[in-house]
Amino acid sequence: MKNKIYTIFTLILLSAILSCKGQSSEPIVDIKETQRILKTLASDDMRGRNVLVPEDINRAAMFIAKEFAKIGLKGFEGDTSYYQEFEKRYKGRRLNLKNVIGVLPGKKRPNEFVVFSAHYDHIGILPAIGQDSIANGADDNASGVSAMIQLAKIFKNQNANERTLLFVAFTGEEVGFWGSEYFSDKVNAKNIVAMLNLEMIGKESKFGKNTAYITGFRFSDLGKIMQNHLKNTKFMLYEDPYTTQQLFYRSDNMPLVKKGIPAHTLSTVQINKDETYHTVKDEVEQLDVDNIAGVIKMVAIGMSGIVSGEETPTRIKANRR
Ligand SMILES: [Zn+2]
Repeated sequence: MKNKIYTIFTLILLSAILSCKGQSSEPIVDIKETQRILKTLASDDMRGRNVLVPEDINRAAMFIAKEFAKIGLKGFEGDTSYYQEFEKRYKGRRLNLKNVIGVLPGKKRPNEFVVFSAHYDHIGILPAIGQDSIANGADDNASGVSAMIQLAKIFKNQNANERTLLFVAFTGEEVGFWGSEYFSDKVNAKNIVAMLNLEMIGKESKFGKNTAYITGFRFSDLGKIMQNHLKNTKFMLYEDPYTTQQLFYRSDNMPLVKKGIPAHTLSTVQINKDETYHTVKDEVEQLDVDNIAGVIKMVAIGMSGIVSGEETPTRIKANRR
């Protein structure tokens, strides 16, 4: 009798340990929070986050900075502010612009940076279709920003980053990578180990549920490193299937690629047939928040070895094409 009870206890204990292990490999994503951030950024109040309309783009920047503060991220380069501010001359105007950057300092290798980014600007107001003239940019790219913020929260909770993690919301992507260009000129490229940029992740990819693709796959082994971590999970990461679209050259990873940084964009958009892209119909109602949650988990798992400092992706030859 005693032995039997002992055996049962051992079994219960063992299964408890095993199930704990299973849980720790898949991070928990707060769906409600993800949805709140997504909805706020894509709301009509944000008026399409046009970089040429200071009060609109600044409203979005302020919101993101508040989210970083809530998580407890630090400012960039000892700065207490999350804003990386710069000026830009454009058609006779002088614009004051800002990237929003939150930092999670590395515990052992603080001078090695891993960048998680997403652009927060969109294209503003368009000629009206019916009653609607606001291009809300829900998929492009409130989806990416909401995931980037949630990743900051997850990595902060995991507290396992030997490297410094930078969470960067870029401005001025839609007008030609203004924010990412400024960022890449200011930072010492040698310090950046990897960059993963998130762009349009609110709809299921052509490969089905729990999948995504990464642009410029063959230019570094970042994608392979991520795939290895995802092997025994339900997630699958693919090479970009839209090679003729040149997506690798069409997002904020590009200015960093030019500095030799293994910088790639992860996306799920079916760009060849997405009918809401850059229209007033790119709204939250079109999106699947579970898809965003899947991407968040996929990135947290796939990048874990780079975050912990165990793995380092190969560099990209500058200006390679
Ligand atoms: Zn975009």
